[in-house]
Amino acid sequence: MKKVANIIVSTGAGISAESGIHTYRDVEGLWTKYDPMVVSHRRGWESQPEKVLEFKNELRRQFAAGNYQPNAAHHALTRLQKEWTIGEVTIVTQNIDGLHRDAGSKVMEIHGTGKEKYCEACGHRSAFDRDIVHTDACTACGEPGRTRPAVVMFGEMPIGLEELEIKIDQCSILAVIGSSLEVMPGNLFAYSAKQVGAHTVFLNKEEPQRVDLDVFDEKIYGPATETVPKWVDDLLTKVQPWAASKI
Ligand code: NAD
Repeated sequence: MKKVANIIVSTGAGISAESGIHTYRDVEGLWTKYDPMVVSHRRGWESQPEKVLEFKNELRRQFAAGNYQPNAAHHALTRLQKEWTIGEVTIVTQNIDGLHRDAGSKVMEIHGTGKEKYCEACGHRSAFDRDIVHTDACTACGEPGRTRPAVVMFGEMPIGLEELEIKIDQCSILAVIGSSLEVMPGNLFAYSAKQVGAHTVFLNKEEPQRVDLDVFDEKIYGPATETVPKWVDDLLTKVQPWAASKI
């Protein structure tokens, strides 16, 4: 153990599945109506902004109607962040649903958030709580056509990776929860953590196909609302007292 036992928890779409949010392909067939390489790509935003906004507005309306709430797994991670006293707990998510924040966690949202919008001209941010109309002027700078959802599109850089890299270099435990490990960059965090000697854990509903899991020291399978609270409880009641005695 290092002097401080920092934990990184990286979450994917699986942690929100039991809140009722499935992959975008499951959301009333949106993908059958839209080409993701247009409506979720930087090039699409530059060439067909009205089409991108049509998709994002529809997705926002579906999310609003769903009224999704954090589940026991999100709440358990909030508890971990509050009660782990021998180091820092960093929660990093690929999700854009805002459920970690709703559960009271401090979170790095590397793919941004679907709950906010911003103006690319002046950076002004506000709640994405009604449809964005492409021709509308920004309420802060007056520039039309530059307001967009605060989500990272294909062809754009995830947010905060440099800061996260430093945190991974200083972590003792890294866990990946609810990810197929097929989406960059979240699938690479465990390799970086392993290089600095961290203990790596993978929690997922089932064993994913097509990916190499050798990088993980521990694999825990089952629904996140069951596995995550138990994992957190073990960390707080067993690992923390043991680790504290070694620091
Ligand atoms: P993914 O869809 O590729 O994989 C999800 C994983 O979660 C699967 O391996 C599946 O077995 C697992 N899973 C499903 N139900 C689970 C449960 N109840 N408990 C534990 N695990 C469960 O997800 P991904 O790797 O995050 O990649 C999808 C990309 O799309 C991400 O970049 C993400 O940003 C985005 N996305 C976000 C949301 C959201 O914001 N909630 C939803 C869908 C997709």
